[in-house]
Amino acid sequence: MRELAATQSILTKALLQARESNAERIRVLHLALGEISELDQHTIQKHWQELSRGTPAEQAQLHFRLIHAEVQCMACFMKYHPLDGKIHCPHCGSYGAKVLSGEEFHLESIELDDE
Ligand SMILES: [Zn+2]
Repeated sequence: MRELAATQSILTKALLQARESNAERIRVLHLALGEISELDQHTIQKHWQELSRGTPAEQAQLHFRLIHAEVQCMACFMKYHPLDGKIHCPHCGSYGAKVLSGEEFHLESIELDDE
């Protein structure tokens, strides 16, 4: 369900950019996906096929760039990479942490077909 909303918002942004550039078609979308975003690439891909049907983004390819996750422990303030997406400080064992990166999902750029 989260993937559906996220995919819809990406599609809306891409179509708007294409319209502003007067492009007929969108060929490729470059997406940034945080490794602990809990969004599944395959599910996004599936929604994309359904949602983009009949739009200039139909058959556009999705390229995912995985964003490395980093969190900061709220107890000892050490920064670390959450292993398997688990927030558990390797320095002091605390479970509380602030996510610095790795939860994002956004459109980085699109490639248009101008012909
Ligand atoms: Zn810690």
